[in-house]
Amino acid sequence: MKIKAAVLHQMQLERPYTKSNPLTIEEVELDAPGVNEVLVKIKAAGLCHSDLSVIDGNRPRQLPMVLGHEAAGVVTELGEGVKNLKVGDHVVFAFLPSCGHCSYCQTGRAALCEPGAQANGQGTLLGGHRRIHKGNDYYYHHLGVSGFAEYAVASVDSLVKIDSEIPFEIAALFGCAVMTGVGAVVNTAQLKFGNSVLVVGLGGVGLSAILGAKAAGATKIIAADLSAEKRAVAKSLGASHVLDSSKEGALEEVINITKGGVDVSVEFAGAVPALEFAFQATKRGGTTVTAALPHPNARLSLSPVMLVGQEKTLKGSYLGSCVPSRDIPAYIELYKSGRMSVEKLITHRLKLSEINEGFERLAAGDAIRQVIVFD
Ligand SMILES: [Zn+2]
Ligand SMILES: [Zn+2]
Repeated sequence: MKIKAAVLHQMQLERPYTKSNPLTIEEVELDAPGVNEVLVKIKAAGLCHSDLSVIDGNRPRQLPMVLGHEAAGVVTELGEGVKNLKVGDHVVFAFLPSCGHCSYCQTGRAALCEPGAQANGQGTLLGGHRRIHKGNDYYYHHLGVSGFAEYAVASVDSLVKIDSEIPFEIAALFGCAVMTGVGAVVNTAQLKFGNSVLVVGLGGVGLSAILGAKAAGATKIIAADLSAEKRAVAKSLGASHVLDSSKEGALEEVINITKGGVDVSVEFAGAVPALEFAFQATKRGGTTVTAALPHPNARLSLSPVMLVGQEKTLKGSYLGSCVPSRDIPAYIELYKSGRMSVEKLITHRLKLSEINEGFERLAAGDAIRQVIVFD
């Protein structure tokens, strides 16, 4: 079938993106779903910093690629062998497929699924195929999703069936921002009821971490960002304290508020000084988690004696250490019961044709979650 999609042909184009237009809206051909694949009509797709990292070249991928990895839609056609989904089901895409069979999937660590990571690295669906093309020129899939398009073919292992009552524009956010942010706090850091937490970097993922920390019973929730607007949003979502971690005295402020440092700090800023701040602000015996994706050449310098003498833990978190089929429905339940106001993360609703404006706004730091809404 012929569909409209936003395609990236070249990375590292100059800003403003409203002039350079890194994404072009094109008519492309989408093949029918193969074995264990389904066709999904995309209803909403969020603009995430990880898409921007492909556009600006911080996270290089094979091109041409249809971007977008945070989306929700309706199943409209089933490929061969699909048993657990039916036409009409509402689904959220997880940006890493979980094969269910590898040693990681079998031990509850779907975020490390090996065939999933391999397919994502190669820009294919889990089965190794690409379904988007123009004539004989096949395009790459973005993290098994490619949600900036009217339709997507995806592996069933990239999809989680959801309650049909939840609006698509909110549902989409559970596929990346909410899963990554909430999961980093509750799965990776294992935040306990009554803990104090520091969140550094207040984009969609960091603000989701605040929602998760609050829902999980954190007491002091300290939110740090260079932007005063984002700190204000954090406050409205439940942060008890906000600060600018680049300002002198910020570390002492955290130490004072918590009387010695936070139990858990999570960093989403993607800048080495932000991670160093998060680590230093963590108390003796506490846990620092990073879920950001800085440039691959970035290097962190730490005092090993702090790890030893203070028994601090430093952990990486991918996909919020989630099992998408277990955690996305649970997080949606928390939203539905009013314990996570995910809707407050949405600052803009766009048409597909406005996508370059959206990425310019994201690059400028003037948006939290922008969602492309399809008819
Ligand atoms: Zn994302
Ligand atoms: Zn696996």
